[in-house]
Amino acid sequence: MRLLLIGAPGAGKGTQAVRIAGHFGIAHISSGELLRQHVTHDTAIGRTIRETMRRGDLVSDDIVMEVLREPIETASRNGGYVLDGFPRTAEQAGAADLMARDVGASVQVALFLEVRREELVRRLVARGRQAGRADDTEEVINHRLQVFDEHNAPLVDYYRRDGRLITVDSGQPLDEVTASAIAQLRRVRDEVAAD
Ligand code: AMP
Repeated sequence: MRLLLIGAPGAGKGTQAVRIAGHFGIAHISSGELLRQHVTHDTAIGRTIRETMRRGDLVSDDIVMEVLREPIETASRNGGYVLDGFPRTAEQAGAADLMARDVGASVQVALFLEVRREELVRRLVARGRQAGRADDTEEVINHRLQVFDEHNAPLVDYYRRDGRLITVDSGQPLDEVTASAIAQLRRVRDEVAAD
């Protein structure tokens, strides 16, 4: 199964992606994590994107696609993937579909983890205190939420239009979100398998 997670920073994409990938035995591919690795290892890409990431702005589509292409293709040949953090815009979604169609790796389902704003801010501030990620300060958090708001509605519409969107209330406790996501995804998997 090939799916992706949509949700604001703090919606629980990372946690749910790991659990969903484990449940279905598919790869977890996190765009943020792959990009952060480039920064940590100080690669040419890492040096290009360091400042953009620190501000909480989006890295260019070309770089994101370059970093993701190989992991997506490899995972597609090996049972599928859960994409976490990509696509973030309708343009990226279109580009991903174009790239993936050639190799039969297109996303079959987009899972939207929906959370109220106050809950998001509460979680992000708590995470910033614990993890010390460079982009988890309050100022950058607010900026990342603005970036999300700017792009998310068209992204959700992109997948809703062709019937690939499912939504889970991600304001619930973690385990309930996981159970509800897995139940819905199982139904989708069975439908996809029956095609
Ligand atoms: P995340 O770990 O998903 O919150 O991503 C952390 C940061 O990585 C974001 O604030 C962006 O700077 C960058 N990033 C991750 N995924 C993407 C993407 N699909 N498009 C552009 N930038 C991204």
